[in-house]
Amino acid sequence: MSLRKIEASFEHICDGCGAVERTASTSRPKYWADLHILQDAYDYQGCAVADGSVKRLLCQECKSYVSEAANEAIETRRAALAKGGADGDA
Ligand SMILES: [Zn+2]
Repeated sequence: MSLRKIEASFEHICDGCGAVERTASTSRPKYWADLHILQDAYDYQGCAVADGSVKRLLCQECKSYVSEAANEAIETRRAALAKGGADGDA
C-alpha cells in the first residue's frame, strides 16, 4: 500500500475578473490587494443601521484599474469643485 501526501492549497479568486491563483497559504497572493470601503448603511431617516462596507479581493491587474479609476474620480471631483460647483456639477 502506498501513501501519497497531498499538500493543502488555497484558491484566491479575484472579485473583479475571476482570475484564480493557488497558493500554499491563506495569505493574499503577491501583488494582489484587498479593497475595503468601510461605511455604514443607513435607513430612510439617515440613521446608521448596519455595516454597509464593501470588501473585494483584487488581482494585480484589477487593482491597477481600480486604483487608477479612484484617482481619476477624485481629480475630476476636485476640478469640478475648483470651478465653483458646490455639488461638483459645474
Ligand atoms: Zn482581477
